[in-house]
Amino acid sequence: MLVGMQRTRATVDRVAHVLVVEDDRDIAESIELYLRHDGHRTDRAHDGRQALELFHHANPDLVILDVGLPEVDGLEVLRAIRSRSEVPVIVVTARREELDELLGLALGADDYVTKPFNPRTLLARVKAVLRRSAPQRSLPRVTRLGALEVDRDRADVRVDGASVALTPTEYQLLATLADAPAMVMRRDQLIERAMPDSDALERTVDGHMKNLRRKLADAGAGDVIETVRGIGYRLRRFED
Ligand code: CA
Repeated sequence: MLVGMQRTRATVDRVAHVLVVEDDRDIAESIELYLRHDGHRTDRAHDGRQALELFHHANPDLVILDVGLPEVDGLEVLRAIRSRSEVPVIVVTARREELDELLGLALGADDYVTKPFNPRTLLARVKAVLRRSAPQRSLPRVTRLGALEVDRDRADVRVDGASVALTPTEYQLLATLADAPAMVMRRDQLIERAMPDSDALERTVDGHMKNLRRKLADAGAGDVIETVRGIGYRLRRFED
């Protein structure tokens, strides 16, 4: 019998890792069911705080975001995602009057469905958004600062093209800073994003940062990490 002749769905439609943010458990479940049936992987968050945590750790290809959420409002979630990422976001809202703001430049959702909605409509939007976003998403995600390159696709850090041996925590700390080079990250934010499973204290971050700085300096990257007194850390800007 011939095997291996079947073409997988992935060759036809793009299969994605989707973060579903929805506080109504029945709706969330039904969205996930439809997405999985189409071959997508899903993660689910029931409130805004959980959504942002999952977003940072799971690095999804697409976010489906209900706007009416407990804890942190959906608008705030979208703003936080957009401040760090170009990931496609489809918003789900019952409040049509917010659509202009949601889809506008400041918040920049990619598409929307209004409640109540047919899951098939949502799936069609998912498909269209993934198709549109495919070319950009396939570009390497590399941040360059002077001689330093942080390559999120390969989880690699290079100085003048040569890999620098970092521990996973050091790498995560640097990648977190490189995600938003101009932003100051507080120690608790760094712990949340770079060491999510640890009980690390804030001074633990200082220890890892010290080692990371030494390794980067030894590799010839110079002093790329700036301490912002009383607040946290950020990457130095380089004039090029
Ligand atoms: Ca809701």
